[in-house]
Amino acid sequence: MEEQQEPRTIELNDGRKMPLLGLGTWKSSHLPSNMVQGAVETGIAAGYRHIDTAFCYKNESKVGKALQAKIQQGIIKREDMFVVSKLWCTYHAPEDIPLCLNKSLTALQLDYLDLYLIHFPVGLQRVGDEQFPTKDGKVLTSDIDYVDVWRGMEALKESGKVKSIGVSNFNIMQLERLLALCKVPPAVNQVELHPYMVQPEMIEFCKSKNIALTAYSPFGSPERPPSMFRGDADPHKLLEDPVVGEIAKKHQLSPAQVLLRYHVQQGIPVIPKSDKPHRILQNSKIFHFSLTEEDMKALKGLDRKWKACLLDGVKSHPYYPFV
Ligand code: NAP
Repeated sequence: MEEQQEPRTIELNDGRKMPLLGLGTWKSSHLPSNMVQGAVETGIAAGYRHIDTAFCYKNESKVGKALQAKIQQGIIKREDMFVVSKLWCTYHAPEDIPLCLNKSLTALQLDYLDLYLIHFPVGLQRVGDEQFPTKDGKVLTSDIDYVDVWRGMEALKESGKVKSIGVSNFNIMQLERLLALCKVPPAVNQVELHPYMVQPEMIEFCKSKNIALTAYSPFGSPERPPSMFRGDADPHKLLEDPVVGEIAKKHQLSPAQVLLRYHVQQGIPVIPKSDKPHRILQNSKIFHFSLTEEDMKALKGLDRKWKACLLDGVKSHPYYPFV
């Protein structure tokens, strides 16, 4: 009898398909360019068909080179790939929204994105090319409403330069408000999800509204600098958690594979970052096994509402989502 293949994509609310496994690229911008390009090329060779980048990662040109190289080698066609990028907070003004997208498309050497996300609901003032403009040590926020930003995103979808549109780091109240006022509902909310940050209410809400979630920082983002951590609980230790380790040992897997399988088994796309070829390959091998119900329960039981990504420099802003 032929073995039933597990689906490796999910269908978005606009009918488009999104691969469950994607390659994260944040922090890859700090590496020599050939390493970033190499990571994406290794990922494509290993079967990744979903790449997650963002204007603010400052690595889109390297991601673009990798995509071009693999297209020219005949390994992929453009339409095989699901490329995601994000509108940065300093580009929330109506006239800046298409500008930011065009910069991303140029750097990526693409004429469309598969998914474009509002990176964060809080806008920042645009001061030259600064990512986090500050004055007297304070981040310069703007009061542009994320609903108005969404109207700009809807226009981009209409133009055909982005196939699907979504948001990132939005909380449930913000999603509800957006849903009440939008013409096109967001296809995706990309948020931090892992066993230390289980977010059952968010998962339930998005399911009920047909919004897909993407899980970012599935390993708890161990590379994130301490200044961007909340100062509690052992932040770096998710990959070393004894419960994760026990489950990994039982299934003869790595802790990383357990943490990734945890999402895809729930039908949630996940975007681990690595620039090491052996890990990129290992992280792709998550479709040949299942976690038991007890494993899933034990992993969810680790919840401590701990987030690696806080952006607490803007936490007094009314649109700050993590309250
Ligand atoms: P992450 O994927 O949780 O962790 C990445 C770290 O784990 C790197 O230090 C990597 O090291 C290590 N690692 C990868 N595979 C491993 C393995 N098999 N065994 C042991 N260690 C392993 O962190 P993240 O980069 O914060 O999140 C993933 C992606 O989500 C980002 O790259 C980005 O694309 C996206 N993201 C989005 C947002 C947003 O606001 N929307 C925020 C954060 C992240 P090596 O590279 O040395 O292997």
